[in-house]
Amino acid sequence: MKTAALFALLPACAVASDILSIAFRAKDATELHRVIRSNNHLDYGCKPVIVRSEGEHKLHALVSSDQLATLKRSLDPSLVQIDTMDHINKRQEATAPIGKGDRFKGGKVAPRGLGSRKRGEQVNLGPILNVDEVYSAMKALEKEYDIDMFTAPFKTYEGQIVVGGVADGDKKKDKKGKKDKKGKKKDAQHIFFTSGIHARERGGPDNLIYFISDLLYANEHRTGLTYGKKSYTHAQVKKVLSAGIVFIPLTNPDGVRHDQANSNLWRKNRNPASAIPGNDLSVGVDLNRNFDFLWNFTKYFDPSVDPASTNPASQAFYGTAPFSEPETRNYRWVYDAFPKISWFVDIHSAAGTLLYSWGDDVNQSNDPKQNLFNPAYDGKRGPVEDSVYKEYISEEDWYNVALQANRTTAAMVAAGGREYIPQQAVGLYPTSGASDDWAFSRWHKDKSVTKVYGYTLEFGYATNFYPTSEEYVQNIIDTNAGFMEFVLSAIEIGLKH
Ligand SMILES: [Zn+2]
Repeated sequence: MKTAALFALLPACAVASDILSIAFRAKDATELHRVIRSNNHLDYGCKPVIVRSEGEHKLHALVSSDQLATLKRSLDPSLVQIDTMDHINKRQEATAPIGKGDRFKGGKVAPRGLGSRKRGEQVNLGPILNVDEVYSAMKALEKEYDIDMFTAPFKTYEGQIVVGGVADGDKKKDKKGKKDKKGKKKDAQHIFFTSGIHARERGGPDNLIYFISDLLYANEHRTGLTYGKKSYTHAQVKKVLSAGIVFIPLTNPDGVRHDQANSNLWRKNRNPASAIPGNDLSVGVDLNRNFDFLWNFTKYFDPSVDPASTNPASQAFYGTAPFSEPETRNYRWVYDAFPKISWFVDIHSAAGTLLYSWGDDVNQSNDPKQNLFNPAYDGKRGPVEDSVYKEYISEEDWYNVALQANRTTAAMVAAGGREYIPQQAVGLYPTSGASDDWAFSRWHKDKSVTKVYGYTLEFGYATNFYPTSEEYVQNIIDTNAGFMEFVLSAIEIGLKH
């Protein structure tokens, strides 16, 4: 992109140009835990990810040049080294633009995905969908394919609505007689997909909108779907729809609107309730630390780890109570409205991994007493190197959740050729209050609800939240193959656990 065009896209207040992508390196992972502990205001992406590579450990973060200077002064270079990777700034010049106007004409023109195109057909999807286009794409899908849409009950701080849909192979007009009093058939939806909870993770809503568009198009036109080197038959399309998919493409519209307007890598929602006057970064809650899963981390976790933050200026600020935010309450409402949901994926970027339960500590299947509801272990959860506490998961559940992650990532790799790694969500560092863990924990708390296997899918490359146009298209191909495989595997493993 020409420089002039770039400046047209980035408003004067953009701060992304002062943001550097860095990697901390250390022989000993506990040194990196110490970095997180003493710098919990830094931006570590969706969660701090410590990876082992070639005899050392690495931790990615986004920092300003001032923060980098402070870090360099405070860290002992014999223990922790810092690599500065300037690719974020270089990539910034090639960042895919955000759409202007409304390509779906207020719902008159239906979106069409990449998988349903004829072999060799040249397709230009155009820029990333803006927030209004996500709403009009949903209207257009309802009009074109006659599917059920819903408005979640809780409006955002800025008064925006959160909309979702149901793709289950049935048309509204076919369902007459089968509906309950409220007009919805609510007993046959087993899959739940969401995206856009972290505002800056560009392309997440697009991945989902285009996938659903493909499914509905292929269903109607009796075709299959092809994503890169992965192809699925028409029968498989029918099968996937029969599992019943509930989808919300944009769960945090306030945050996404703010990020798209300012290109400032905004992650949280826009609730100012805990904001510190004069500090713009203290607006908003990290919605993916706000779910009722060990939310009050200072009580539940070992003091040596920070699975979230109590500081409103942190990217991981947990809010004022579990489900304090309308956006997270909308997630909770979906499980009540569609009580048979048993598989859930929250779509994020940017890492290239599919995370399965649990995210608070290392899994174990030997001691059911070591579980998140047992107060005897309060203050002990989190450290992954110790054996003081590990989170209980039954052998069968562990096998199932890992099998699904292996199959889905294998399909994504086969489609696009880049790496996606299946792994337990805790990795080498814990999180609290996340959507996937909360979804799985519901049944552990109350055996009368349907057990949900919850996942976090991280598309894209480490800390690269704004894809180039080329990466944007590749992400759609990779994730859409992953979604097909995920639902097919879910059916095979079982829609009831
Ligand atoms: Zn995220």
